Amino acid sequence: MKLNINFRTLKPSLMPTSAKPDAVFVYGSGSYLYDENNKPYIDLIQGWAVNTLGHAAPELSKALLQQSSMVINPGPAFFNTPALTLAKKLTDHSCFDHVFFCSSGAEANEGAIKLARKWGQLHKNGAYEVISFSDGFHGRTLTTMAASGKAGWENLFQPKTEGFRKAIFNDIDSVKALITEKTVAIMLEPIQGEAGVIPATIPFVLELKLLCQQHELLLIFDEVQTGCGRTGDLFAYEYYGIEPDIMTLAKGIGGGVPLAALLSKKWCSCFEHGDQGGTYSANALMCAAGNAIMDRILIPGFLKNVRMNGQHFSKRLTELSKRYQLGKVRGRGMLLALDVGTLSALEISAIARENGLLVNAPRNNLLRFMPALNIGAYEIDDAITILDKTIKYAIEKNQPVQLT
Ligand SMILES: *Cc1c(COP(=O)(O)O)cnc(C)c1O
Repeated sequence: MKLNINFRTLKPSLMPTSAKPDAVFVYGSGSYLYDENNKPYIDLIQGWAVNTLGHAAPELSKALLQQSSMVINPGPAFFNTPALTLAKKLTDHSCFDHVFFCSSGAEANEGAIKLARKWGQLHKNGAYEVISFSDGFHGRTLTTMAASGKAGWENLFQPKTEGFRKAIFNDIDSVKALITEKTVAIMLEPIQGEAGVIPATIPFVLELKLLCQQHELLLIFDEVQTGCGRTGDLFAYEYYGIEPDIMTLAKGIGGGVPLAALLSKKWCSCFEHGDQGGTYSANALMCAAGNAIMDRILIPGFLKNVRMNGQHFSKRLTELSKRYQLGKVRGRGMLLALDVGTLSALEISAIARENGLLVNAPRNNLLRFMPALNIGAYEIDDAITILDKTIKYAIEKNQPVQLT
């Protein structure tokens, strides 16, 4: 593919909201992404854990093509087939009874917070406070920023939405200390993604569930990143053997297109007509994409493969860590991280990109991996080979020059 476009004249028109490398990505296939010079990259970022089946997945293209030639959006006040079938699929395969579709993780989380506040008004004397966690991430709307505990966000865009208290992740006493009559819910990511792939421990989640039962609080799982097979379970809550009351999904459920969902148990699903909506809510095109993704994930053996290849990936990263005396490997399934110790993860990700590998560095010392769920073992091995070469180069580059 030869492109006759001068990208340099186009780039200044985009609002510069993040530092971006020079490459312009033009097409992809599975775990491979290609830039304007046809340079291939093994993609272990996959649009930030959204491309569940990799780039240009045939079943996703086909579903989008077929649905777009039928009906794209009859409107949120009418039923459409893909939304109905996807909602049923989600309730059949989870512990939830009701689904509200929207377009982003932040929007789903706003919905979860609204639902909790409504429930607090109806059943808990107007309790509205949500206990969330330091280093947690729930999105970039004003309210989800207030719910997040991301360092550096404390004083941005004042005044903040009120009603969020921050506990310490995996520290049950810090949660207990914040519970008052005003508390209505506890909201967490089962694996904190942006914080650097930090799993909630099983005892912590079991105690949270108990606290919620004792104090009549809603347990909200933000599974925007961990849901839809990412961790090797269909939803990460299954791993803990508990059922949350509310769950949010986005990222992986659309396989790359903007689709998100708010799921609730029937007993706390208390929105009345007019409380929640959105022009793009449950549009047929995005829900058709969601159906294509869920159908594939639900094929028997698919998740077992995610777990097996995830273990293989984790093992190969551990070997790499031992070889270069780096830190721990964390995470489950296809959501993994490697602590690179004193090396700069940002520098490693830049060198890796030169070498044809896309990896994310959410922290100074941390590489995060969120490949397509259907990545093959041989592609993982190819990525490890590039990462090995990259780390070796970064170590040598940072060593003082030896005078002989
Ligand atoms: C990405 C993410 C969000 C925000 O999702 P958007 O679609 O970017 O709004 C919320 N929560 C978690 C856990 C995420 O990883």
